[in-house]
Parts: sequence; C-alpha cells; structure tokens
Amino acid sequence: MIPGPELLAQLPESYLYFHPVKLAAIAVVFALWAVFAQWVDKDTVAVNTFRVLWNLIVLSTGAVATLAALFVPMFAAGFPIMVGLNLAVGVVYVLHRNKLVREEDRVFTLGHFRRLREQGFRGKKKKKEVVERVRLTGADRKFVPIPEDDIEREQYRLVQDLMFDALWRRAAIIEVLPGKDAARVTYTIDGVVMEREPLARPDADAILLFLKRIAGLNLEEHRKPQRGQIMAAIGEHKHKVLVRTDGSTAGEKLSLRIFYNEADLKVPDLGFSPKQLEAVMALREVTPGLILLSAPPKCGLTTTIYSFTRTHDRFLQNVQMIEFEKEMDVENVTQRIFSTAEGKTFAEQLLKIVRSDPDIIVLPEVRDRESAAIACQAAVQKQKVYVGLVAVDVFDALRKWVTLVGDKNLVAKSLLAVGNQRLVRVLCTQCRQAYKPDAAMMRKLNLPADKVLYRPPEPQFDKHGRPIICQNCQGTGYVGRTGVFEWLTVDDGLREVLRRCTSLADVQSYLHKKGGLGLQAQALQKVLEGITSIQEVARAVRADGTIGEVPGTRSAAGRPAATAPPRPATPRAPAAGGALAKPAPGSDRGGPSRAGR
Ligand SMILES: [Zn+2]
Repeated sequence: MIPGPELLAQLPESYLYFHPVKLAAIAVVFALWAVFAQWVDKDTVAVNTFRVLWNLIVLSTGAVATLAALFVPMFAAGFPIMVGLNLAVGVVYVLHRNKLVREEDRVFTLGHFRRLREQGFRGKKKKKEVVERVRLTGADRKFVPIPEDDIEREQYRLVQDLMFDALWRRAAIIEVLPGKDAARVTYTIDGVVMEREPLARPDADAILLFLKRIAGLNLEEHRKPQRGQIMAAIGEHKHKVLVRTDGSTAGEKLSLRIFYNEADLKVPDLGFSPKQLEAVMALREVTPGLILLSAPPKCGLTTTIYSFTRTHDRFLQNVQMIEFEKEMDVENVTQRIFSTAEGKTFAEQLLKIVRSDPDIIVLPEVRDRESAAIACQAAVQKQKVYVGLVAVDVFDALRKWVTLVGDKNLVAKSLLAVGNQRLVRVLCTQCRQAYKPDAAMMRKLNLPADKVLYRPPEPQFDKHGRPIICQNCQGTGYVGRTGVFEWLTVDDGLREVLRRCTSLADVQSYLHKKGGLGLQAQALQKVLEGITSIQEVARAVRADGTIGEVPGTRSAAGRPAATAPPRPATPRAPAAGGALAKPAPGSDRGGPSRAGR
C-alpha cells in the first residue's frame, strides 16, 4: 500500500522524522540504485534483452524498496528491506545478462575485476583495436562509424569480420542460424550453399543486434519477420545488402542477401551461344508479340527477365512491370507490386496497365487464366510482352502456357519465342586444370574423344603443408555463373502446328524433328569451350531433379529417359535468386590472402 498525499498529511510529524545518519544511508542506497537503473536501461539494449520489462522491474522494485525504508516504522527493518530488494534485482539482472554475452563482457565476475584492476594501473581504459574493413551505411543512409562504447565496439568488430569474409568470398546469401550454444553459418556462393565455421552463440547474437540496429529494425521484436537494407563497401565495390530477421524456436535467424553486379547485366552477358544471341537480338525490335522466359526455381529466371527489360531503351519506351514481389530495381521502369489491398485482381490491374498503352509489359509471373489471356491479347494487338514461367524445358513451358491461356490459337498468334535456362558456375581461369577425359565417357556424351577439358584444381599445398588458396576464386575453383539456354523462336511452321494440332504431342514431335534444342547440348558446348566443367554441368542440370538425360537417350516423348544416370551427391539446391555473373568478372576484387576469421 502506497499512502496518498492526504494520508501523509494526517500523519504525525514525528512519523517522518529521520535521524540525519539514517536519512543519509537511505540517500546513498537511493543514489546507487539510480546509477544501477540507468546502467540497466543502456545495458539491456547492448546485450539485446527485454528493455521495457527490465526497466519496469528495476523501477518498481526501487520504488517499493525506497518506500519501505521510509515508511516501515522500524528503520532496522525498513532499511535492510530496501537494500535487500535492490540487491536481489541487481544480482538476478547481472546473472541474466552475463549469460547473454561473451566471457570478456561479463560484469561482476573475477575476470571483470581483474580487467578493472589492470586498466586501473594503466590509468586509462585500453580500447581494443578495431578497424574498418567494410564501410557500412545504415538504413538512414548515414555512414556507420566505429562505436565508442566497448560492447558496441565488439559487435562492430564481429560484423566487420563476417561481412569482410563474405564479401571476399562473393557470398550472395549469408545465413546465421542460432542453436543452443553456437550458430550455424552458411554462405551461398554462385548458387552453392557452403557451410562456414560456426559462431559462438553470443557472437551471433551480437552480430544480429548490431545489424538490426543499423538496418533500422525493431530491436524489441524477436519473433515476427523483419526486413531492412544497408550498404556495404570494400574500396570502390559497393553492395546493397538486404537484412532479414525471423524468429525461430532456437532464436532469431539472420539472413543477409548481398547484391553484386546482377543489376547491370544485359542480355549479351547472360550466356546465350552466339547463334542464340543473334536470334534473341533479332526479336528485340519485333512488336507486338509475347516472349515466354522460363526456368526451374532459382535458376536465374528473374535476372534474365530483368536483363531483357534493360535491353529496351527505357528513356524512349514506356516499360511497365507488375510483379508479386520486387527483386531489384530497374531504372526508368514503372515497377508495380501486386497487392490485394487495392481490392482489384491481378487481371484487373493488368488490364488497367494495358489500357494505359505502354510499349512494353513485363510480367515475371502470371498465375491465372484471365491475366494470361489479357497478356496474349495485348501481344496480338500492340504491345511487346515478356512473361516468366516456371518450367523445366522449352516444351514444358509451351505446354504450361497453352494450358494456362486455354486457347492455342491465341498462343500461336501472339508467341514470338520461348526460352528456358539453367545456371552453371564459370571455371576460374587462374586455377582451372586441363585434363584428358575418359574416352568412353566422351563417346557417351557425343563429344570428340581427343578433346582436352578443364576442371577445378586438386587442393594444392605449399612446402609447409599449408593450403594454397587461389586469390581469384577463393579456392572454390569457380568465379560467377553463366546461363545455359534453350531457345525456340516461333516460326510459321510451329505456328501452323500449334493451330492445327489436336494434342500437344504433335507440337512435341514437331520440336523433336526440328532438333537443335537441348539444354544439355548447350551446357556441354560450354564444357568444350573450357567455360565450365562436366562435374558442374551434372550438378547444375540435375540440381532441380528434373533433367538428367544424356543425349541420345531421350525417349520419344522427349522427357528424360527412365534410365537417367543416378543423381550424384550434389550440394543443396541453389538458393540465390539470380546471382548471375559475367564469366570471370571478379578478378579485380582485392582481398587478403586469408579471410578475416
Ligand atoms: Zn581460382
């Protein structure tokens, strides 16, 4: 019970009389408590625990304790209550926060007192050497300086180590997945997920906290997914970094998506063969018409669609794009994100765009029949339309599109071309190794038996037995990725077959007769040119589990033959949206001989 002012007024004056010494004792404890309360407020932020809750606990206990000392009639009882309550909260808080931080950041431990004593002898607090290797810019577009505060400094140092290492290795995605004592760290480099050394749990939490702070995320929110953006630069190389956090039972997951040069890629950079590129570029000025671009998930489709968009003169032409989720920005293109909040269906929004009479319409994804038909109509009448579709090959894309539109005549009338693609990693030109492949295998793959091929090198060691790591590819053997394409320009013959056919099998046999397609043949051409390796083609082409045929074993239906070779033990499927790179571009990326950690 806290007495109100009117109650206090009724009390005899002697009740509140305190001996000056007793009053001084209460004042001293009160002052210590005030310092403690301030420290808790700041410390909860630094160690990332519940700030509001702890402030509430410390403040309410402090108030109750002080009132106890003042109003419990016997000072000998009230004062110990005051000291005891505050002490209890203090001990509980320190035990709690010490569990959340690294050994050297714990307080009121033997180590802490030893550190205090050493620092005391020097007279001045010694700051740990922390250097900026990656220049960070926060969500507020302000440069992030090296912090003054010790705990924040340590967080900054850990973030620097992680970011420098990841950027040097060209990781497109960094994931930090918390466990009980440690956090798993994975990098996705050129579409391949690689396990890195785990982080101690407090280090992972420190990194999470610092990045959340500079990305402008809510520090109190530990469960709901959050998304922010920062910039990270090494020298002249500046990268946009998406910061995502998401709660899990084990703690908050951190995911960083680093953007490299995808935003600058043009169609000629994508990996078309010279013949294909000629056919593709010939269609650039053809209007109206619809171009269907397809790939299995995570095979670079988004990058390709954006690159096609960039091929047009976006200053002179009105380019409109409507998508379900924005992957990256394209300058001078109106990018709309579909949202049900406007109360309109995708088809209605698309129709509105068509009526606004743009030159080019880009649809990275179409999900319903009505929208598909509107896209086709627009491509018959006036506009150039690009549509993205998930499919394993050109025929699969054509089949899915005809099914979605539900009108093969309309498809035949509007369609200009169909593309399908995969991504393969590009061999590092600095360390790739020439070898003479097994003649039997070459015969099986329809390749010239005497050809020299390339592959990543065997691990190399110096005279002290230390591994020699190639500076150009950081020891992965590959630098960047390139697309492998299947491209079908729709000619009058195919148009006629599409119109007349009673089933899509007719279209398939027509395509089969025409030949010249085939992702694997295109990929093997890149092997012959030394751009990639047989192993990489096997990995990339089969990573999605859809295609595994060897030329000559295709069944009549054109689907993968039942005798497809068993899937090799491939790394996890690529997770990067479209971290496509020009062949061997990054050789100018400066880096230390060894990574940061
Ligand atoms: Zn190399």
